[in-house]
Amino acid sequence: MPPLFDSEFRRALAARLRYYNEMGIYDFYRRPPSEASLAIVESTIAVSENKFEFGEEMSPRKATTVALEDDEQGLDLIALKPEQSVDDPVKALKIIREDLGDCTRCALHQQGRKQIVFGVGNPRAELMFVGEGPGADEDAKGEPFVGRAGQLLNNMIKAMGIEREQVYIANIVKCRPPGNRQPERDECETCSPFLMRQIAAIKPKVIVALGATAAKTLLAMNSSMLQLRGRFYDFKPTGMRSNDPQWDGCKLAVTYHPAFLLRDPRQKGEAWKDLQMVMKELGMKAPAKNGE
Ligand code: URA
Repeated sequence: MPPLFDSEFRRALAARLRYYNEMGIYDFYRRPPSEASLAIVESTIAVSENKFEFGEEMSPRKATTVALEDDEQGLDLIALKPEQSVDDPVKALKIIREDLGDCTRCALHQQGRKQIVFGVGNPRAELMFVGEGPGADEDAKGEPFVGRAGQLLNNMIKAMGIEREQVYIANIVKCRPPGNRQPERDECETCSPFLMRQIAAIKPKVIVALGATAAKTLLAMNSSMLQLRGRFYDFKPTGMRSNDPQWDGCKLAVTYHPAFLLRDPRQKGEAWKDLQMVMKELGMKAPAKNGE
C-alpha cells in the first residue's frame, strides 16, 4: 500500500504533535473547515479515516509520549493517552475520570447540571451499553440509566440472563442537557473522546448503542435507525491507538433507546431481536422460562 504522507510531511506532523503534547495537549477536535484550512483538511482526510482529527485543544494535561516509528499508515502518530500506560482498567478509568475533572469544556456545565455522570459497571465488561445523556434522575444520582428508562434497560439486561453489574453503562455526554433535550453535535464531539477512552480501557467485546444519538456519534454515520439496526459494525474508539495487541476494537450493534421503547412498546420485539444477535455473538443463552 502506498504511504499516506511523504516523509517530509510525516516528520513535520510528528514534530507538531510532539510540540502540542509537550504543552500537555493531546485531544484534537473536529470543527467545520474554514476556506483557509481546506487545503490542510484535504491532506488529512486519509488520517481522519484512521479517526484522527485536528481542531481545538482541550485543557492541558501532563505530557505523554508520541510514537514516531516509521509506520506507513501514519497511525503511530496518535499519542497514547496517560491511562494507556496502565494495564488495570480500574486504574485506567480512574485516570480518565481525574482527567475529566469538574469539566467545563462544553456549554452543558453552565446549564444546570448537578454532577458529571461518568459511567457505571464492570471495568472488565464484555458488554457495554451506551446511551445519549443523563436525565434528571441520573443527574441527581450521578449514575447512568437509573430512571424509568434505566428500569427498562435493567429488564433488558436481565432478559439476556445477566445482571446490570456485569456490564458497563455510559452515555455519549456526561452532563444532563437542560429539559432533557438532545445533546448538540458540538457537545457530543467535545464529550465523546472521554467515552472513547473509557471504551479503550474496558476493551469490551460488544457495544450496544442505545438510540440514534449514540449510534450516530459512535459510528460517525448519519443514517436512520432502520438502516443502522440489524447488523454488527467493526468499532475502534476514535482517536485512540490500541496499547493492547489482544484488543483491536470490538463489535457494535444498534438498538432502540429504552425511552423510545417506553413510548412505543410495540418495538420491544425488535429490540429483543437486536439483543439476541448480541447474545449469539457473546455465546450467551437466555435464561429458560418456567417450565421450559
Ligand atoms: N437516557 C440516556 O440516554 N442515558 C441515561 O443515562 C438515562 C436516560
